[in-house]
Amino acid sequence: MPPDLLKKINSTSLDLAGQELWEIFRPHISYFTKTEKNMIELAFEQMVIAHGDQRRKSGAFYITHPVCAAIILCKIGLDSDTIAACLLHDVPEDTDVSLSDLAKEFGYEVVFLVEGVTKLSGIKYKGEDRYAENLRRMFVAMSKDLRVIFIKLADRLHNLKTLEHVKPEKRYRIALESLEIYVPIAERLGISYLRGEIEEASFPFVYPEEYKKMVSKSEIAIQKRTKTVEIIKKNVENVFKKNNIHYEKVVGRAKKYYSIFKKIEKSQKPLDQIYDLVALRVVTYNIKECYQILATLHSHFEPVEDRVKDYIAKPKENGYQSIHTTVRDSVTGAIFEFQIRTRKMQKYAEFGVASHWSYKEENESDKDFFEGKNMKWISELVDLGRQKMSEDDYLKRVKLDLFTDRIFVMTPNNDPISLPEGASALDFAYKIHQEVGQHATMAKINGEIAKLNSKLKNGDVIEIFTDKKQSPKWDWLDWVNTAGAIKNIRNFIKKIALKEEAQKDNKVKKG
Ligand code: MN
Repeated sequence: MPPDLLKKINSTSLDLAGQELWEIFRPHISYFTKTEKNMIELAFEQMVIAHGDQRRKSGAFYITHPVCAAIILCKIGLDSDTIAACLLHDVPEDTDVSLSDLAKEFGYEVVFLVEGVTKLSGIKYKGEDRYAENLRRMFVAMSKDLRVIFIKLADRLHNLKTLEHVKPEKRYRIALESLEIYVPIAERLGISYLRGEIEEASFPFVYPEEYKKMVSKSEIAIQKRTKTVEIIKKNVENVFKKNNIHYEKVVGRAKKYYSIFKKIEKSQKPLDQIYDLVALRVVTYNIKECYQILATLHSHFEPVEDRVKDYIAKPKENGYQSIHTTVRDSVTGAIFEFQIRTRKMQKYAEFGVASHWSYKEENESDKDFFEGKNMKWISELVDLGRQKMSEDDYLKRVKLDLFTDRIFVMTPNNDPISLPEGASALDFAYKIHQEVGQHATMAKINGEIAKLNSKLKNGDVIEIFTDKKQSPKWDWLDWVNTAGAIKNIRNFIKKIALKEEAQKDNKVKKG
């Protein structure tokens, strides 16, 4: 919201503030039907009445917060229940209006979503155990209805954007929690729009020094790159024209500061070797055109070796699809990255799972995709949360699976399997099936015989050999990295130990 508007809202009465806010908000819900708009307007009114003249730490009327959060969700094009619930998300906790009061006015869905968000906000972040509890609740909420998480992410994003009004000692904690919990969740759900915004808003509070350095260092580099990219863009558009290539648009996209920071940390490469600092994105209509464009680009620019990544053939775990290629322009000598994708992929790339609820798009048949194996990790984490274990253990296991980078490997039938980075052939075996893991004897990686503790790389094709006589050994615990495999091996060894003890007891009794 522009600062002058905010000032205006602060200086006027609540009625006026509500009215002005409504005028700001209304254009964002233009994609709904009349009935839906009416329902959202009712939610808006109830929200204004319930919060009354409550204020934010900034001095602004409280009602600016739910409205700004709802606008974020309108950008994704979410459904009317989600938007209404977002407007009402702080009502039960912060006002005298209760959930059952809301139930009189709104349908089950809206109330269910508000309740979901309210439950999540009960936990304040304090140390590791709270952190685990927070996560556990997030996963349970997610498994019931992902829209609760969308609201929570928008809520958090707006709070981060107004974080300078919060006490300094609290800022770091909130921003850190955002990077450690909210970002990985947005990432796994493929909502890179929210992931990027949350990262960027948290960055200056978690790493103030690095942030300052990154901004001053990359500003000039980005400006320079943007100029080069503009020239190349025109060049490419000409090439496409000459070759009769059908496409929607070519756009230059500058990487966000936090992404650059992360990439430099991870790759240890200097700024001038980050080739996607400003990337060129080609958006087209179908997959065939994507490959045609790749071929055309490669015939005009020299591809840099080993820099073609085909996420169309092998999507990322979160569903992201695109072809990335790094090329060299022979005229300027500049090295830069192209990302080629269809319109549909573009939408997933930004909104991920959330685009499944998107109202703006005709219903596509991706339901299976999201509810199938790509979202299996959510139910796995929920199961994990139901097991009896200490907070510490839970956190360790969840971190193992969620907070490490993942690789993508294939079965001999070309079924993609996703594993955390550093996973072994034995992890793979357990991922296929518990029985395969327990009886695994050796592996074949890309056709070569390999030991079960061999570390896997992206794109490896793995075959596991089994023998009924084989069973888990103590050593195996050193060979695996995934929570599922660790659990299975431990349980097996425990069972054997118990059995042996029972047998000993029996012998003693008989003796
Ligand atoms: Mn809130």
